Amino acid sequence: MKRYLGCMFFALMVLLCGCGRDVPGEGGDRGKEGPWQRVDTAMGTVIQQTVYGAQETAELFSEDVMEMLYQMEREELSWRLDTSQVYRINRSAGLEEGCALSEELAGLLEACQELSVRSEGAFDVTLGRLTSLWNIDQWSTEENMTQFQIPSGKELEAAVESCGSSKMKIVRNAESAGTEPDSGRARIWLPEGMRLDLGAVGKGLALSRISRLLEEREEMGGAVISLGGSVLTYGVKPDGSPWKVGIVDPADPSSHLGILTLEGQWCVSTSGDYERYVEADGVRYHHILDPATGYPAQSGVGGVTVLVKDGLLSDGLSTACFILGPEQGMELAEAYGAETLFVMQDGSIRMSEGMETYFSR
Ligand code: ADP
Ligand code: MG
Repeated sequence: MKRYLGCMFFALMVLLCGCGRDVPGEGGDRGKEGPWQRVDTAMGTVIQQTVYGAQETAELFSEDVMEMLYQMEREELSWRLDTSQVYRINRSAGLEEGCALSEELAGLLEACQELSVRSEGAFDVTLGRLTSLWNIDQWSTEENMTQFQIPSGKELEAAVESCGSSKMKIVRNAESAGTEPDSGRARIWLPEGMRLDLGAVGKGLALSRISRLLEEREEMGGAVISLGGSVLTYGVKPDGSPWKVGIVDPADPSSHLGILTLEGQWCVSTSGDYERYVEADGVRYHHILDPATGYPAQSGVGGVTVLVKDGLLSDGLSTACFILGPEQGMELAEAYGAETLFVMQDGSIRMSEGMETYFSR
């Protein structure tokens, strides 16, 4: 139930994107250009696509997007499916020979490693043992909500010990090309006990790939595509008006406290304590963990939105900024050329100077 509430909040976030009609092809010439809308689920979240262009081209595009997302989950990112690279990498932890991986995934993990260094360890995709200890991906079901038990201090300590992006070793152009599926010239070694969890960047990576797909299809006019808390805007609407992306109010996630007005291609990611959480003994635990303590991060942030051209950066930075809080977070994002908007738990708003151009109440 909670998951569906969360999904509704995300859907609401993009309702403001200027997609007034949901009946495709209605009335006049403009109807021939859309908007065409489609809603699915993938990567554990709601995928909402609004695309402009000729109907057949648009529908084919939306279908291809979904196929790409399913494939990413199945073959690259899932830590549950034994068909994915992340699953195989996790299983190889501690092995002397390590594990082969695609060049693209190696590049993604290197970027994550860099973000980990620059965020002083706040962002860390090697915290898979911590996220499974908290059982985050099971929080969505009502049954598990009532059965939830906080991990013990000892368990958390051991899981914290297993984390640390600097302990993950990646080699590009490895001498011994692997024989495993997907093996390119890259290899990775995880120490025993370490597990990857790419939940903080998977959707962002997908946004960048969708953006590339749009570039290849010149006949597509424009699109706004939301994968849960990460949104891609692309191109132009037939009437030339800008995209509008709503910023959810963490204190009341069914409403917005403002909008971003954007032109052309952007990636907007939000990380918030209201997106996924569980309650035990009257205490609420959310899904963004501080790798230093093993507990949900306590930075006073209710939600943080990052605006930048690249999806991996918007998604990764929003998670990092949530943990770091506004001072350190803004500095980090600025170093990556990204704009930030922090909504604090006390309701106050802090934003980077550049964000003021796009945000309005
Ligand atoms: P969402 O996935 O809900 O959009 P985020 O992008 O902020 O939100 O990612 C949160 C997910 O990232 C968690 O569910 C978990 O899988 C993973 N995660 C939690 N804490 C961290 C962290 N400190 N560094 C990297 N990944 C994290
Ligand atoms: Mg993220």
